[in-house]
Amino acid sequence: SDLSDRAAVPSRSNPADPFVAECIAALGASNVLITATDMASYLTDWRKRYIGQARAVLRPGSTEEVAEAVRIAARHDVALVPQGGNTGLSGGATPDESGTQAVLSLGRLRAVRSIDPANNTITVEAGCILAEVQDAARAAGRLFPLSLAAEGSCTIGGNLATNAGGTAVLCYGTTRELCLGLEVVTPAGEIWNGLRGLRKDNTGYDLRDLFIGAEGTLGVITAAVMKLYPQPAAQVTALAAVSSPHAALKLLELAQGAAGPLLTGFELMSDFCLELVRRHFPQMRYPFAQRYPQVVLLELSDNESEAHARGLFEGMMETAFDDGLVLDAVVAESLTASRAFWDLREHIPLAQAEEGLNIKHDIAVPISRIGHFIDYTDALIAAAAPGARMVVFGHLGDGNLHYNVQTPEGGDARAFLNRYQEQLNRLVYDSVVAHHGSISAEHGLGRLKIEDNARTKSAVELGLMRTLKQALDPHGRMNPGKVIGGVR
Ligand code: FAD
Repeated sequence: SDLSDRAAVPSRSNPADPFVAECIAALGASNVLITATDMASYLTDWRKRYIGQARAVLRPGSTEEVAEAVRIAARHDVALVPQGGNTGLSGGATPDESGTQAVLSLGRLRAVRSIDPANNTITVEAGCILAEVQDAARAAGRLFPLSLAAEGSCTIGGNLATNAGGTAVLCYGTTRELCLGLEVVTPAGEIWNGLRGLRKDNTGYDLRDLFIGAEGTLGVITAAVMKLYPQPAAQVTALAAVSSPHAALKLLELAQGAAGPLLTGFELMSDFCLELVRRHFPQMRYPFAQRYPQVVLLELSDNESEAHARGLFEGMMETAFDDGLVLDAVVAESLTASRAFWDLREHIPLAQAEEGLNIKHDIAVPISRIGHFIDYTDALIAAAAPGARMVVFGHLGDGNLHYNVQTPEGGDARAFLNRYQEQLNRLVYDSVVAHHGSISAEHGLGRLKIEDNARTKSAVELGLMRTLKQALDPHGRMNPGKVIGGVR
């Protein structure tokens, strides 16, 4: 609808606003936040790139209340911005600056509804914190393998809405691949119960997959059936030093050949990434006696025994040394040591932030092209923006790199960004497209990457996306301005 046919925006702290009054009647006053102070944490994204305004923050406590809130919003023509843990990295959960939208927080839908160990499934509400889902699975003797650094505060609804990846995609797949069924409140306020824990179900269009990765633009996820796996009997974590991303790829091939599905982690870290960690977190232990161009973190998960896992790992490393692929390697001898290896990897983004301003790109290219992508793009950036420092790390086994650019050492970082940011984004994304990749591997489009997506996707693909949006949300009330953009 046109902005002009909507009522004037009432004061944000006005409980007499008819929309707010109806929400209070339906959800209770304590679950309709309207003061600037109460709403503040819901109006800014994790990276503090966007600061929005809202008419209210709604906190329904059940699927029925979500549906009721959506129907009230529809009656008052108020757009809704679904929000889980607010850890998204693309601005998808932040309302715009108009003050006309309302945030729909799923934080109170937090129940683990059921666990079915025989079916290897868990049914959880959207606002369940990821770490709590992992804990519930562990308590039932099972593994819920989705794992990422924000797991202490992100929600399963947000993981589904962004189709989150994390560190175990290599073996278990993305959130999409871990989901068997969904419960969704449609933009019309109806409840679709698709909570089927089936591994086979060919009964027409796959509605579940439409809502996964849609970043809240097609409906509100209120619950999900997720897959569970056996807890591994043993895990081996190791760091292996290699000479280049090309050598890392050869090591990946060798490891997958030797360990198959037991290879559950394969993360690449360039020397500069680790140098940043050493510089800003000197208390963290770097286990090698010298620096190497690239370090790979490998993890094997074994259902047999510790001895079997170690045997497998040692055999693999012997071949890698014999082939000249690996320059040095250390195996974690305890859980603490294993945690310390993962900490090195997980501190890279934090070290980057400590170092100063930077430009982030979360991209994917076919695994076989990663080495060429890095060489080619590094050379383009070095020529275009002298002094730029590439911070390249990521889930190599998934073809997913965090290809980030740090401003030059000691220079005026802000001036560098003003001058080069747009050019470098374009250059990286053009290189991604030339390598048949994706400009957003894990973090979605939100409002951050709408233009780059429109520039790099075909008219046919964009047209199909708009057709879907129009069909499911004809009034454009579900998280407008995200994913495919456009003004209501
Ligand atoms: P939010 O940030 O609240 O929302 C994200 C998007 O989903 C928004 O568009 C929102 O509107 C929508 N949404 C949220 N809940 C619902 C719902 N119930 N129904 C419909 N739409 C909804 N991502 C990775 O993939 N891999 C990583 O390794 C990774 N590491 C991270 C590390 C850190 C430190 C941080 C801060 C983030 C990381 N992320 C990673 C980003 C990741 O997208 C989020 O952490 C997580 O998946 C989002 O969950 P959330 O509950 O915080 O969602």
